[in-house]
Amino acid sequence: MIDSHAHMCYPTYDKDRERIVGECRKRLKAVIASSARYDESLKVLELCAMHNGFLYATIGCHPTELQDAEKVLDLIQKNKGKIAGIGEAGLDYHWVKEPEKRLEQKAVFEKFISLAEELNLPLVIHSWDAEQDCFEMVKGRDAFAVFHCYSGSRELEREIIRKGHMISVSTQACFSKSHRKLARDLPLENLLLETDSPFLSPVKTEEEKRNFPWNITYAAERVAKEKGIGAEKVMEAAEENARRVFRI
Ligand SMILES: [Zn+2]
Repeated sequence: MIDSHAHMCYPTYDKDRERIVGECRKRLKAVIASSARYDESLKVLELCAMHNGFLYATIGCHPTELQDAEKVLDLIQKNKGKIAGIGEAGLDYHWVKEPEKRLEQKAVFEKFISLAEELNLPLVIHSWDAEQDCFEMVKGRDAFAVFHCYSGSRELEREIIRKGHMISVSTQACFSKSHRKLARDLPLENLLLETDSPFLSPVKTEEEKRNFPWNITYAAERVAKEKGIGAEKVMEAAEENARRVFRI
């Protein structure tokens, strides 16, 4: 199994990060270590260098934290040979309501799309409550898109699939009916699985308020149940897709 999106350098892992990576190595084949801000990106690059061949970096800038966008774009250029993808980047209309700020998000997202095209790297998209606009911005472009934690409509999901992009189903599918419906309609060829750790934990015990990459199996099992097929089949497809998309 491969977790295709986990924030390995998030501060809540600071106290036991090496133990967690060690546990991931025992249970998984690879983890895509994502970042959403400049300082997190620096840490992700460093951690992935230490765990070369197991952790792979995608670096980006969250649409609610655009003050660092130029620095992140520069960092991507400088590390283009070392990273597996760009992102997360995109639009967030859930937290940002002001029209002028949304325009600013679009202007920055455009730069990330262009850079993904220029460097021929997959673009991991954050699209909370802005799925349609994100899709409009990438649909005529060459950038290959991964809709991370996709929460949009089933109609738009079909359009995204038609364009050949990927939809990443998270451990949210374990506790959200709408995400399970999205997973049911998703062909295996377009499926990635992610935990978005340390967020979206499917296990609600005291210790496991944090999510961990190995919980990806819960997402696989939930998707398999929804589709009425074996979990093994879902895991295999998601792993193969992650290897193809991130070239690992
Ligand atoms: Zn994320």
